[in-house]
Parts: sequence; C-alpha cells; structure tokens
Amino acid sequence: MSQAAATLTTHRAPSGVAARATDLSKVYGRGETRVVALDSVSVEFARGRFTAIMGPSGSGKSTLMHCMAGLDTFSTGSARIGDTELSGLNDRRLTELRRDKIGFIFQAFNLLPTLNAVENITLPMDIAGRKPDQQWLDLVVRTVGLSERLRHRPSQLSGGQQQRLAVARVLASRPEIIFADEPTGNLDSRSGAEILGFLRESVRELGQTVVMATHDPVAASYADRVVFLVDGRIVDELRNPTADDVLDRMRRFDAEDGTG
Ligand code: ADP
Repeated sequence: MSQAAATLTTHRAPSGVAARATDLSKVYGRGETRVVALDSVSVEFARGRFTAIMGPSGSGKSTLMHCMAGLDTFSTGSARIGDTELSGLNDRRLTELRRDKIGFIFQAFNLLPTLNAVENITLPMDIAGRKPDQQWLDLVVRTVGLSERLRHRPSQLSGGQQQRLAVARVLASRPEIIFADEPTGNLDSRSGAEILGFLRESVRELGQTVVMATHDPVAASYADRVVFLVDGRIVDELRNPTADDVLDRMRRFDAEDGTG
C-alpha cells in the first residue's frame, strides 16, 4: 500500500497520548472466588504507535484492553481515551465513545454472516449514520487485499481473509485507537504475519494508534513497544524488540516465578 497511502496522506506521526490507565484495578468475584485481574496498572499508549501487551494466559491482557476500550467496567482507578475519563460516562456516552473513537479487533472475527464483505466493512458507519469516505475505503480495501472479494460473504472467505475484513472494518472508520485482542489467535502463521504486517503499516503509514494483546513473542515483535503484564501488574517494557528479546524476557519472568 506504500505508494497509494503516500499519495493520499501526508503522514506525520501524531503526538500525545491516545489512552491512559492510572492505578487501574479490576476485581472479579468475591470471597473464595475473588480474582484480582488488574492490580493498580498505570500505562500510557502513545498516539501513532503500535504497542503490544505481552503476558502469559491469565495475566490480565484481555481485561486491560476491555476496561480501556469501555467494553467492561473496572473496580478502581482511571481509564482515559484521549481526554475522556471512562468512569464518568453513562451508558449512552460510553456507547458513543466506543462507536466514534475506538476500534476493536477480536480473536473471533465477529463478522455478520448475512452481509457481504463491503457491507460488513461499512456496517459500523451505517449504524452511526455516517457516510464512508470512498477514497479512504478504497485504500483500506486495497491495503488488506480484498478488492476482488467485496461481494463475498464471510463463509466464502478463508480465515485469513475474514480477519483482514475485520481489520478493514476497523480501519475504515479511522478510530483514534484500535485495540486488538490476540488478533492472530485463530490464524495460520502466514495469515497471522499478514495481519500483523497490516496493523504495523496502518501505524507507520496511516498514523493509526494500535494496542494489541498477545502471548506470542513473534507477534509482539511487530510492535514499537512491548509492555509486559504478569499477574495483573505491569512488570517491564521493551522498545523496538526482536522476537528473541521478547522471548528472553518472558523466560526470565518464568524463572523468577519458579524461584519466587
Ligand atoms: P489474559 O487475557 O491475559 O489471558 P484475562 O484478562 O482473560 O487474561 O484474565 C485475567 C484473570 O481474570 C484470570 O485469572 C481470569 O481467570 C480472570 N477472569 C477473567 N474474566 C473473568 C470473569 N468474567 N470472571 C471471573 N474471573 C475472570
């Protein structure tokens, strides 16, 4: 997409903080079933950057993303998208914020089976009563390589193509921040690499902000910055890491766990 993107956008890396958590805690259940999923997490996600949240299964990655994207409530602390504090919003305002500013990519593609590809892409905008910017839409569709598949239904597409469609749907409305929760979890490694490549390009060339949860060091190595979560706490971070750097760091946490 490099050339097309370059002609459509004079991209300058946006500055500032796209989302921020401060002392964010989330407790599930009570008594014997009490689980502290997030334990006073403070973290900032810079605009125009690709950040990975890395951690073993059960470390709180999904919970952090859901709380910050307004898909779940939190127990204490603060979560902001731009300047908007989520805990102060009623249901209607929260729905509007999610619709207007936030994109979410799930492990399951969450496409509507009765709609074709292009209808799936424009559905969120149709619901919001907004007209898609045709030039942008064309670029997004070309970027994810779906120009020849626009009239296909999800069931007529491969897993990789379905996730590309889900990515296109999110990119189409140009949200201020995209949260992706294990977006390659259901894909073979080649389709997974494609999706990660698109997410990275959307940051580098289109100025998107992406936050991705993953337990895969290779996926995390696509990010500009990796934040490590263990037992609901942020324990470390790396800038511009290779997959080996991420793996090394994870191994050290395991070793510390074993001795501690
Ligand atoms: P990850 O995404 O890193 O795998 P999660 O955020 O899904 O981790 O889970 C963090 C912790 O919170 C885990 O111990 C998990 O069992 C617990 N948890 C997640 N969702 C719920 C829930 N709805 N009810 C109770 N406990 C939950």
